[in-house]
Amino acid sequence: MDVSTKRASTNGSVEHFDAIVIGGGPGGSTLATILAMRGHKILLLERESFPRYQIGESLLPSTTGAIGHLLGITDELARAGFPIKRGGSWYWGRRKETWTFDFTQSEVPGVVNAYQVERAKFDEILLRNAARKGVDVRERHPVTAILQEDGRVVGVRYGTPDGGTREARARIVADASGHSSPFHRIVGERVVADFFRNVSLFGYFRGGQRMPEPNDGNILVVSMEKGWVWYIPLAPDLTSVGVVMPQQNAAILKKGHEQAMNELLDGCPLIKGMLEGVPRVTEGIYGQYRVRKDWSYCNSKFWKPGMVLVGDTACFVDPLFSSGVHLSTYAALLAARSIHTTLLGEVDEAACFTEYERRYRAEYMIFYRFLQFFYDSNNDQEDYFRAAHEVLGDEKYEEDRQAFVRLVAGFGTGPDVQALAGASAPPSETKRIPLDAVFGIPSWLDVTSASGLGAKGPYLPGADALSISADGFRWVAQRPAESA
Ligand SMILES: Cc1cc2nc3c(=O)[nH]c(=O)nc-3n(C[C@H](O)[C@H](O)[C@H](O)COP(=O)(O)OP(=O)(O)OC[C@H]3O[C@@H](n4cnc5c(N)ncnc54)[C@H](O)[C@@H]3O)c2cc1C
Repeated sequence: MDVSTKRASTNGSVEHFDAIVIGGGPGGSTLATILAMRGHKILLLERESFPRYQIGESLLPSTTGAIGHLLGITDELARAGFPIKRGGSWYWGRRKETWTFDFTQSEVPGVVNAYQVERAKFDEILLRNAARKGVDVRERHPVTAILQEDGRVVGVRYGTPDGGTREARARIVADASGHSSPFHRIVGERVVADFFRNVSLFGYFRGGQRMPEPNDGNILVVSMEKGWVWYIPLAPDLTSVGVVMPQQNAAILKKGHEQAMNELLDGCPLIKGMLEGVPRVTEGIYGQYRVRKDWSYCNSKFWKPGMVLVGDTACFVDPLFSSGVHLSTYAALLAARSIHTTLLGEVDEAACFTEYERRYRAEYMIFYRFLQFFYDSNNDQEDYFRAAHEVLGDEKYEEDRQAFVRLVAGFGTGPDVQALAGASAPPSETKRIPLDAVFGIPSWLDVTSASGLGAKGPYLPGADALSISADGFRWVAQRPAESA
């Protein structure tokens, strides 16, 4: 596909928006909704018709609590019947035993749990909410090209369900179209991480044993000789099971997915026992085994004039700590702040998106560095907790475990966690939501590096760093103490 077109057509039927969002996954829906709630005219173009299948079912409290609250969907999520994820249970490390953490150990006010979700249902809730909040949502409208003029992105070309082609223009185009997006190339180069060159095979079973209450909704992660296995309860009669293995073990896939999964689970007696006598789902959206590989990457740049990358199109680390949807929705919040400020004309676009990229990279690198350590399964829990504390580089945690839980709940970068106090309160659009939160900057990361992976060093917000406004939705050019 030719993803980039130099000039927009001069056809009079071209529509105009403040911003165009490509993709209606969690990143795109979150970004579009926040911008529409700030009064902007937003077009969201989604290739599929929802509900549609997606992987990424185990969520973090930062998404279901903080972002959900911001979007006004916490009640709807609570009513949807998703299993409550109190935390995680891990058979991992030198000691051959299962250990469990729960999100309350993060001691972040208001953070109690998250959900395990069928993404078809969860993503649809976010997309319909976007439409209710004023976003012009168009499904079955694939974007086919990015329009540029004089080095600036000015709009998109897209298809319509009747086979037609249209163009739309906006001040900012946000690409949130996921890992298969070709559009990230317009902004920079996708750098693949050698460390996480894994392959995953996953499918669904009609039930299966649950862990004893109250941990029956937890994700169970089990390491084994050939890799590791996730076991996610999605409903009483539905369990998501996936094996993640290094590429050198992936030759087993040549035997066919069914046989490969059977042989891999033979090497994991704990999960095999929980699935004893439980048939695999063989029809509908869960009726096939799927394979994903080479998922760990980071784009060399996250923005260019007129365009920003949000979510999997920009970067992804690894499924081990279920950080994908968190990173995508957190990036959406940062991008919304940048676009809102740019549209108001208060701070110039380059400064806004530079701040966006720094903070997004910081959160990405926290997971990246912690996962590098965690993949050495020959340590004890205490070593992992200590590593989390070191990665966060923050002396304030009394216990290493608290640092670990805060990191894996998606709150690792937030120095001012008071902001979360209202996370589980009833949604209210008029309430002021001080979101810095949730999301500050760790002191040791050299997140200013555009080269991305592996960068490390002290990060000191320079004279050009932006702070967050008191209402949480704009950047301001002062230091935090002086914020408006
Ligand atoms: C094996 C594996 C397991 C994972 N497990 C987890 C997990 O347990 N928890 C977790 O949080 N994350 C997990 N993830 C990651 C998770 O899947 C992603 O991080 C998350 O879905 C990213 O959200 P997004 O909004 O950026 O993109 P997506 O969810 O991919 O949404 C992108 C949307 O854009 C649309 N689109 C694509 N192209 C176009 C186009 N040209 N025009 C218009 N629309 C378009 C797509 O149809 C899609 O709806 C896992 C990933 C893998 C590979």
